[in-house]
Amino acid sequence: MLPAQTPQVDHSRVPALATAEGHVLTNGLFQCTATRAPHGVSNASKTCGSTMENNKKNIRSHLNKLHTHDSSYAKSQAGFAKANHLEQFVCDRPRLDGSGWCTRTRWGQHSLVAHAREEHKFRGKSESLSTPWAALSDKQRTYYLERVELEKRRLQNDGVYTLADEELSKQFKEEKFPEA
Ligand SMILES: [Zn+2]
Ligand SMILES: [Zn+2]
Repeated sequence: MLPAQTPQVDHSRVPALATAEGHVLTNGLFQCTATRAPHGVSNASKTCGSTMENNKKNIRSHLNKLHTHDSSYAKSQAGFAKANHLEQFVCDRPRLDGSGWCTRTRWGQHSLVAHAREEHKFRGKSESLSTPWAALSDKQRTYYLERVELEKRRLQNDGVYTLADEELSKQFKEEKFPEA
């Protein structure tokens, strides 16, 4: 059983963009059911599920961003490059130990996700990993920087966490990367 507040498909309404794969929900939003590819390769076999205002402009913009393989936007995304083996992804995140910037290169989404999890303590949806640092929100940058500060304190403390930092480290392991 779905929770009562989960919007259901409203079969009496049609998507504003007739060619779009998806349906209108009882809350009036359009829900995309296109297969996600190539942006976010790890989700390649899953349906998108994104919701947006049910109007042509918003739906088109979403399709162009996430589902059109040859749009200029998609081409500019690292996900596209990796999926098509065009170029390597260059990491654009602060190094965990505070020693500067990580510019490691990785082929493919799986390798990139593994890198981010191991070396930047990243948890959450992997799509954001292709977003350049400059394009992240303050909240998203803070997510990384808090982990850098924690690791710096550990290193300064002969490689062991203080009790408080031990707790913080556990908390960070549960905390997912903010979506905006
Ligand atoms: Zn979609
Ligand atoms: Zn990195």
